[in-house]
Amino acid sequence: MSRSVALPPRVVRALPALRRAIAQFREAGETIALVPTMGALHEGHLTLIRQARKRARRVIVSIFVNPAQFAPNEDFASYPRSLTNDLAMLEGIDAVWAPAVETMYPQGFATQIVPQGPAKAGLEDTFRPYFFNGVATVVAKLLIQCTPDVALFGEKDFQQLKVVTRLARDLDLPVKIIGVPIVRERDGLAMSSRNAYLSAAERTTAPTLYRVLKDCATRLAADEQIARVLDEGGRAIEQAGFALDYLELRHTESLGKVESADAGPLRLLVAAKLGRTRLIDNVAVRKR
Ligand code: AMP
Repeated sequence: MSRSVALPPRVVRALPALRRAIAQFREAGETIALVPTMGALHEGHLTLIRQARKRARRVIVSIFVNPAQFAPNEDFASYPRSLTNDLAMLEGIDAVWAPAVETMYPQGFATQIVPQGPAKAGLEDTFRPYFFNGVATVVAKLLIQCTPDVALFGEKDFQQLKVVTRLARDLDLPVKIIGVPIVRERDGLAMSSRNAYLSAAERTTAPTLYRVLKDCATRLAADEQIARVLDEGGRAIEQAGFALDYLELRHTESLGKVESADAGPLRLLVAAKLGRTRLIDNVAVRKR
């Protein structure tokens, strides 16, 4: 029996080589999709990539653990890095853009994008004040470097998706930003590279976050009082052993606070630490 052999992805580490690859695609009249990642790939990333394949002839996956989006006390040094493994998962991808930190931020680098609007919604930004400046700057660079027609981002990082969408619009970047629904483990835990940090006991507890989110979403959709649902949901998360950063009901588009479940479409967003692992998740709140 013959098996077709998928080609290993071409790993590009320098800008001139990236530009040459992109020029070849463009000369052939091909469209390009970009999937930005920090590596340690899992099924969530692969889902983004499958969506990308449907939307463009060529797919570029970037792998770059961006130091600019980590605060000094965060996990930049310990963030899982597994390029060999990642590349094995990327067979058939047209190009993997994996610049070194010095390539992305050469000596003398002195420019930063400081997003406002959704980046100041009082969610992730409250707990990670450096985060969106770092994300916006690196995503702008990735979009300019790769000149994709479409770029795909997960709803897992819901506020990030809003920030990136606004960034592309505000800077007139000729790219369509596409959000992809959250991919979950069988027990409901949102897939994340950081799940690798969880101990066996923590891994058993971790799906509680999604269970509480779903329960709260059902109650909110049934018009229970918002403050009470969020208060009880927050306590359930803490009783399970998490340190809660936030559990917030927001408008899906603006991420603004809402007073009533009729202000929809609505999103319920959570961030909480389990031991040393910070988990985030979110669900839509849909009124019947
Ligand atoms: P990361 O490597 O964690 O920076 O993620 C790269 C991209 O994959 C981001 O757009 C994330 O939102 C997305 N992503 C990560 N985990 C998931 C997931 N479980 N479901 C959907 N998208 C995800």
